[in-house]
Amino acid sequence: MTTSDTKLVLPTRIDDVHVQNFINGQWVPPSTGAYLKNVSPLTGKDISPLPDSDSVDIDIAVSAAKDAFPKWSTTPADKRAAILLKISELIKENIPLLSEFESLDQGKPLRLAMMHEMPPCVYLFAQFADIITKGIAETSQTTPFIHTPASIMDPKPCKIEFTTQHVPAGVAAIITPWNVPLEMICIKLAPCLAAGNTCVIKPTELTSINAYMLTHILKAAGVPDGVVNVVFGTGPRAGEPLVKHKDVRLVSFTGGTKTGFRIGGLAGGMGKRVALELGGKNPNLVFDDCDIDHAVATGIRSAFHNQGEICLCASRHYVQQGIYAKYVEMFREMAQTQLKVGDPKAPDTYFSAVVSQNHMDKITRYIRLAQEEGATVEFLVKRDDPKIKHISSDGRLTIEGFEGGFFVAPTLITNISQKSRVMQEEIFGPVVCVLPFEDEDEGVALANDTEYGLGASVWSLDKEKLDRVMGRINAGTVWGNAWFALSFSMPFGGMKNSGNMREFGTWGMEFFTETKTLSKHVYAEKPVSS
Ligand code: NDP
Repeated sequence: MTTSDTKLVLPTRIDDVHVQNFINGQWVPPSTGAYLKNVSPLTGKDISPLPDSDSVDIDIAVSAAKDAFPKWSTTPADKRAAILLKISELIKENIPLLSEFESLDQGKPLRLAMMHEMPPCVYLFAQFADIITKGIAETSQTTPFIHTPASIMDPKPCKIEFTTQHVPAGVAAIITPWNVPLEMICIKLAPCLAAGNTCVIKPTELTSINAYMLTHILKAAGVPDGVVNVVFGTGPRAGEPLVKHKDVRLVSFTGGTKTGFRIGGLAGGMGKRVALELGGKNPNLVFDDCDIDHAVATGIRSAFHNQGEICLCASRHYVQQGIYAKYVEMFREMAQTQLKVGDPKAPDTYFSAVVSQNHMDKITRYIRLAQEEGATVEFLVKRDDPKIKHISSDGRLTIEGFEGGFFVAPTLITNISQKSRVMQEEIFGPVVCVLPFEDEDEGVALANDTEYGLGASVWSLDKEKLDRVMGRINAGTVWGNAWFALSFSMPFGGMKNSGNMREFGTWGMEFFTETKTLSKHVYAEKPVSS
């Protein structure tokens, strides 16, 4: 098995993209013949429709993945690695095109897609190629103290050599969300393929274009037919039959907590292994003794990066009383002057459209709720910015040239109760609440006071305090004087209702393998038993 000689030809205009399911190496229509609308959040206009697949398509795709498993799972690691490297290379060559489609499909600024989302996609396939080329570290132990029945009545001590062996686990289901659509697929697909599994991917119907583009890259990179199958459609009609399919052994899911719990219940009830990477409501805990310029600048990014549509975005900022007023003032001023809102293609645009009309409505419902509760709600845009034609009372923006798009202003909320749903529920949009706290105990209690535990930041120049407080925060990733500093070699995942597993590097690989323990009798010079 070698990487393919198939030349990669990708559609370069969105009008030439015709999304089809990718099953057993072929692009095929859904069995129902039905298609879903796909609307660009930038314009509100239809772009490429996508298959409205159901359990029939899932059955065919899982069957292809099952048939491909014996060969792929026994393909030598160096051959699998060569294909992974080729995928990485082809993604890299196509970053401008993939970024353009990602922006059109998801709403994010083009620059963000290029600088933030695509490089990890390139890196991940190369990283897992490297991991399998070096080999997965196995555990071994030799123990002389175990009794073995050398004779039936009189077991004798003997030497046993134990080793672990990581083996491919089977057909995996990969289900992903819309915020960084291609990256989310790559985070799961790279270790899945590296480990020798086959899979069926069900991307979210909201952002399917780059999942489809990826199918062409996989084919050209030499991924054998059936090893990766992509079925497009909705969660209930296509995703759920995939989760429940008897031949799917593993389910790797990233998305909202409610969906994750449902999927976890369905898959767990069938004895499948399930990885859930779920929602967040991440705190940013800012002490009096921090570097306030650094804390505010990073705090703004943490609130509004990718329109607040990053699971790690910090939507609750708790600021110690002594600097609270200054922090809010600096935050407002810096965001208003520095956050460039508008045309996603302009190189200096930081902030663009949210993913869909439904999501915009959800975000603005929370903004209205805060207003009804008497909180102070501010939209951090320049009122005299000529690109902004209108700001509605609940934060919707009308942007010149993108009048039909789904834009919501970066929103700052103060004077709100910690108990408010706005403070407790994941909004997943550009809405940040800033509240004061008195002392360390109160700050930590507030930071930990939600059902979530994905990420958190702590800001202080007192090293001892920083370490102590970081240790007291219940979250899978805690940053000290930083935000979003991630390494793909360090474990990533959530505590509490934010998830149940760890991804990245060897942790990601662990999920996609079965670990066998081999326990071998080591004979002395002369066999112990006769
Ligand atoms: P959803 O939970 O709505 O959907 C996630 C995926 O699940 C989509 O592909 C969706 O398909 C599918 N799905 C929905 N219902 C079912 C079902 N019954 N059975 C199988 N699949 C189903 O999440 P969003 O797409 O709205 O993504 C946003 C969420 O993702 C936020 O909560 C965010 O915090 C979280 N997230 C977590 C990350 C982490 O690493 N912890 C990273 C990124 C996001 P469809 O949309 O087509 O219906």
